Amino acid sequence: MSTTPSPIIDARGLWKRFGNLAVLKGVDLSVAERELVFIIGPSGSGKSTLLRCLNRLEEPDDGSIQVDGIELLSPKTDINAARRRIGMVFQSFNLYPHMTARQNVMLALRKVLGKGKPEAGEIAARALDRVGLGDRMEHYPAQLSGGQQQRVAIARAIALEPRVMLFDEPTSALDPELVGGVLNVMRELRQDGMTMVVVSHEMAFARAAADRVVFMADGEKLEEGPPARIFGEPQHERTRAFIRQID
Ligand code: ADP
Ligand code: MG
Repeated sequence: MSTTPSPIIDARGLWKRFGNLAVLKGVDLSVAERELVFIIGPSGSGKSTLLRCLNRLEEPDDGSIQVDGIELLSPKTDINAARRRIGMVFQSFNLYPHMTARQNVMLALRKVLGKGKPEAGEIAARALDRVGLGDRMEHYPAQLSGGQQQRVAIARAIALEPRVMLFDEPTSALDPELVGGVLNVMRELRQDGMTMVVVSHEMAFARAAADRVVFMADGEKLEEGPPARIFGEPQHERTRAFIRQID
């Protein structure tokens, strides 16, 4: 986007192979501050691998990734410090079952940011309040619905005040009636100005909330643009086929 001087994420020419299989074939992805970029595409097209490269859960074979001006792939970069700027929410919530919602969020604050107990407790309470769980803070994961557990996972990520949030199919494991609550939290985050990259099949949400939609297939970005154009006038045959099939 030419109007944006410095993107929060600027990934160029990313390659990733697993053995002989090229999963990312020179993918570029730039995300501006406060932008919500939606990534869609068939299963196996490399969407998760791309997100995982963006915080170096996967090591790209080639390319460069700048996050907030820091080159993630440089050997000089303190990867743990860089990762603090990048929040990630997965399909599975990965909460500790023996800890309350608040303790789960506090743990991240204490381990990652070295916060003391009282401060971590306060920040965790605020983060849980923000995702609508102010009255569930002392519940254990088993006492929460899947949607509430995912909101705890989101609270855990936002409590660390990341510069950008990556979501990999955050609602895919949820019963349909629980999806809306999680999407509402994501919508509010966006309204608060959070920069977000979202992989999801929730096309209605993409149409309503995304600034830009990226369509990937076979490890390549085939096209990208505003949701009205990608959904209304897709240029590529593979995009058309994908949209027909999910709509
Ligand atoms: P998507 O998220 O779009 O469904 P993925 O990024 O998960 O796609 O996977 C892209 C391809 O890479 C798939 O063929 C998948 O089987 C393969 N893949 C992903 N992770 C690994 C891995 N750790 N080892 C080997 N192959 C992998
Ligand atoms: Mg995936």
